Amino acid sequence: MNIDMLIGSSFESGRGDAEGVIDPRTGALILDLEEADLDQVDRAARAARAAFTAWSRTTPAERSGYLLKIADRIEAEAEDLARIEARNCGKPYHIVLRDEIPAVVDCFRFFAGAVRCMPGILAGEYMAGYTSMIRRDPVGVVASIAPWNYPLMMAAWKLAPALAGGNTVVIKPSEQTPLTTLRLARILADVLPSGVANVVVGRGHTVGQALIDHAEIDMISLTGDIATGRKVLAVAQKSIKRTHLELGGKAPVIVFDDADLKEVVEGLRTFGYYNAGQDCTAACRVYAQKGIYDRLVAELSGAVSSLAYNRADDDQNEIGPLISARQQARVASFVERARESAHIEITAGGQPVTGSGFFYQPTVIAGALQNDEIVQREVFGPVVSVTRFDDTAQAIGYANDSDYGLASSVWSGDTAKAMGVATQLRYGCTWINTHFLLVNEMPHGGLKRSGYGKDLSLYALEDYTVARHVMVRLGA
Ligand code: NAD
Repeated sequence: MNIDMLIGSSFESGRGDAEGVIDPRTGALILDLEEADLDQVDRAARAARAAFTAWSRTTPAERSGYLLKIADRIEAEAEDLARIEARNCGKPYHIVLRDEIPAVVDCFRFFAGAVRCMPGILAGEYMAGYTSMIRRDPVGVVASIAPWNYPLMMAAWKLAPALAGGNTVVIKPSEQTPLTTLRLARILADVLPSGVANVVVGRGHTVGQALIDHAEIDMISLTGDIATGRKVLAVAQKSIKRTHLELGGKAPVIVFDDADLKEVVEGLRTFGYYNAGQDCTAACRVYAQKGIYDRLVAELSGAVSSLAYNRADDDQNEIGPLISARQQARVASFVERARESAHIEITAGGQPVTGSGFFYQPTVIAGALQNDEIVQREVFGPVVSVTRFDDTAQAIGYANDSDYGLASSVWSGDTAKAMGVATQLRYGCTWINTHFLLVNEMPHGGLKRSGYGKDLSLYALEDYTVARHVMVRLGA
């Protein structure tokens, strides 16, 4: 397994402090990994700068060819990558292989195609005697900072549109989950010209901060916590660097009386608990209309109790543990504080799993009220709250009453009603009679404190490029 960083075309181990990389399923140390020191961060940023001019002048077809080669290599090495991701994150191997790796491959393939057919305003004489045209040029050197919940997929979401757009990149994975990005570095080094993509590892306040502060960085792309987003903005406030922020969510799920209860329960069992709820779009904040509420709570609680995890035969597992002991304690503390409220009933789960590893029981919290902490704050664990509502206006009001604005869903047998509600929700995405599903052709990104900037789709290519106007004075 490669654990060296990629700086320019050279692989080197970090020269900074060592950080333990832990297997969340057992709590055991996988390995100690030295983070980059300041000189290594500096050289990575400079390598990206040095590579920028030549890379930015490649044609879309050439860049497309590189991205397709990366996709092919990831596909060919899928099992190895999935094994590493499963170990580092505690995810069931078969789910990484089935869901995440194909999505990663498709992300590179999508941007390989998209960059060859970017749409735009027609060139023309918008002033008599002058032809105006629009160019979309790269931003420059991008610092990409990724979280721990889908490390390889987040690397793909950041690298593919940035490279397609003609930028060069220094990517830093989460210090908790660096292993697949380091494995990917071998592929990047084999396929791309030197310095186009660089990988450094380390903690946020040391390596991450040094990277985003670096004078050669033109744009910072972060997926992470709101608090980290603020730190990125503090840097941008001084330097006017471009920013692209994806900062968490607390997805409302509005279930009307006329929804198909079986589908809702199946959907929530899957989309509320996928990746142990460590997902910014997780269906975690359910609003159930008064006529369906009791049956929904009863059936969901039964369904959730059957979720398979921590089984010796990993093929049976549907979800894994939380990423760390700290995250496990955080989730437990949210549930304990909720339990103290007289109106709340915990109808499934509600405890950390004893023994090694950072598992938490899939949990349903019924009777939650709109102002409860469990309804308002992102838990990032296998915990779904259910709140009763009376009518459509109240459901929309509750759903929009959140600091977050990333994802939402509406469940109803009346599609016109659900569509009407969707138009009033202030979320980057609204699903109707489903939740959670993403495609590379469609944008993913938030409103409000969930951040701004889009991942995936042509909108991401727009974010990683700059519209420029070139005007030509015509001859007689
Ligand atoms: P985090 O903000 O703690 O860490 C994210 C990354 O930022 C890590 O690589 C970390 O090292 C780095 N970082 C931390 N401090 C930094 C600093 N001062 N300067 C530069 N980099 C710094 O988040 P996390 O705990 O890894 O991930 C969980 C969070 O990410 C959740 O809030 C979740 O909702 C959010 N998330 C959002 C999306 C989305 O698409 N909106 C997707 C996945 C995760």
